[in-house]
Amino acid sequence: MSIENQAETGQLSTNQLKLDVSPGTLYLVATPIGNLADITQRAISVLAQVDVIAAEDTRHSQRLLSHLCIKTKLLAYHEHNEEKITPRLLDELESGKSIALISDAGTPLISDPGYRLVMQAHDRDVRIVPIPGACAAIAALSAAGLATDSFSFEGFPPAKQGARLHFFEPFSKQSRTMIFYVSCHRIIDTLKDMQTTFGESRRVTFARELTKTFETIRRMTLADLIPWVEADPNQRKGEIVVIVEGAAEPRADASQVDHYLSILLAELPVKQAVALVVKMTGENKNDIYKRALALKDA
Ligand code: SAM
Repeated sequence: MSIENQAETGQLSTNQLKLDVSPGTLYLVATPIGNLADITQRAISVLAQVDVIAAEDTRHSQRLLSHLCIKTKLLAYHEHNEEKITPRLLDELESGKSIALISDAGTPLISDPGYRLVMQAHDRDVRIVPIPGACAAIAALSAAGLATDSFSFEGFPPAKQGARLHFFEPFSKQSRTMIFYVSCHRIIDTLKDMQTTFGESRRVTFARELTKTFETIRRMTLADLIPWVEADPNQRKGEIVVIVEGAAEPRADASQVDHYLSILLAELPVKQAVALVVKMTGENKNDIYKRALALKDA
């Protein structure tokens, strides 16, 4: 079995793992969001072997690399220099260099720099390899106790209240679970604006300091969560993900149900009419049956 296959099947220990990086390849490497043990074996291997690591904050990333005893050259890549640095990185990739992109924490490009680089790497047919790992949004969602079959990631709401309310508005009726990154400095104001938009009985999951010492995960209605966060200054510190439950699907109103039933009952037996109305409206079968009998008697 090749070394890559052994690694894929998990038969290699950390110090045996030495996957070669390919020349001319851009690696998007996820790093921990708090607990350094969350770095993956592949991430360590790639970071140790690439020619250059492009990092959002080189001083911050140097701490992680020193912890991992990795001496690869670091280069700053952040929102203020990405326009200038991107062509240079792409030239280096085309000349055969391998580059890893990392952000301060978690998965690059998820509310972090790198979009311009990856977009242009595609344009120039550069090979792109993701090295998956921690991401606060997905870690929070997995523990949220809210529907995960359909969700959207919406990043950071705006800092100013007017813009924030405007930003939330289109989500008020969305039935998918919604994931937001929220600055601890704005957590109370943001939760209050969420309450204005989504209503006080909407459930949300508050996920703070994931993977760290003071990790806190609470699912509550907005009406309960706001006073809880207000009462405890510790809940207004650190890094926070807020996950909002999707809106309940709108139910058919009673007059609409009666309208469908009266048309169908004129043509079909009760059982068939009821089955069709349940299919059309998603309403409870027993309720529709009772309503059909009442209409028939009337
Ligand atoms: N790229 C990162 C990722 O994959 O999650 C996100 C970077 S974004 C600049 C930083 C935001 O992510 C924080 O403000 C917070 O909303 C969220 N975040 C990052 N680490 C977190 C953690 N340990 N616990 C909770 N939220 C976290």
